[in-house]
Amino acid sequence: MEQKILGIHHITAIAGNAKRNYDFYTGILGLRLIKKTVNFDDPHTYHFYYGNEQGTPGTILTFFPWEGITAGRRGTRQATEIGYSVPAGSLEFWQNRLEEHNVIYNKPAVKFGERYLTFLDPDGLKFELTESSADDRDQWTTAEIGKDNAIYGFHHITITTNKMDGTAGILTNVFGYKLSKSEVNRHRFTTDAVDYAAIVDLVEAPGETAGHVAGGSVHHVAFRVKDETALMYFRDKIVALGLNITEKIDRNYFYSLYFREPGGVLFEIATDNPGFTVDETLDELGTNLKLPAQYESRRNEIEGILPKIN
Ligand code: ZN
Repeated sequence: MEQKILGIHHITAIAGNAKRNYDFYTGILGLRLIKKTVNFDDPHTYHFYYGNEQGTPGTILTFFPWEGITAGRRGTRQATEIGYSVPAGSLEFWQNRLEEHNVIYNKPAVKFGERYLTFLDPDGLKFELTESSADDRDQWTTAEIGKDNAIYGFHHITITTNKMDGTAGILTNVFGYKLSKSEVNRHRFTTDAVDYAAIVDLVEAPGETAGHVAGGSVHHVAFRVKDETALMYFRDKIVALGLNITEKIDRNYFYSLYFREPGGVLFEIATDNPGFTVDETLDELGTNLKLPAQYESRRNEIEGILPKIN
């Protein structure tokens, strides 16, 4: 059976201070903290997952907050900008809100016929909010951000590259994306397998130098598949291209594989199953510190070291 990549599953980035990260994403952007766990390779560091109410794939942004990490630098061989979709007519609300909270932003502009604005998070990670009248995903709302303005989930991810052929090849030949349109040096690739989080923009910047992945940078982009059968189907396809790819890894909330695409960005492929309600109820999501089984016996020590966020 033909297996499909179902758009973006999650995006993972690197932050500095944990509380500042938590306050910005839950408070200013109004996302839901859907899972509070630790870096499975470094249990003295949090791993935060922010998303909509259910943590639906395509809405999930995750962070490793490393206190005191040096700032990264945007450049080629990197995912350089995270696009969220917001309701039509909401950009004035967002502009006022970002202004009020001293966030660095640009006034709304138009790209591919859609209005958007750009802003930076406290670590310098770059975002775009794009008004999207067709989006009807369930939003997470807060006292300050209602349905008319709340973020739906991902609109796109942007990758910057000197020459886009290698990355474009993976997107079109392996992942089933098609080049849908171009504006200047921005080339939009879209999959019709899903309605949302279906866009990857490749920005071709021949003269730009390679970025440095550190604080305020995207660490990896995870693409979504239905289940482990689909996961292994794509593993075989990547292996057949002669690229290195990991074995299947159990991430508690999904199964995943990692490989570095020819343009230099770390890609992950992640499953829908088992999902975030595997160890908390829908109501409880994000309220407890969840540790993978191998660290449960060290809970007291780990809780003593992790910074308090709320
Ligand atoms: Zn990941």
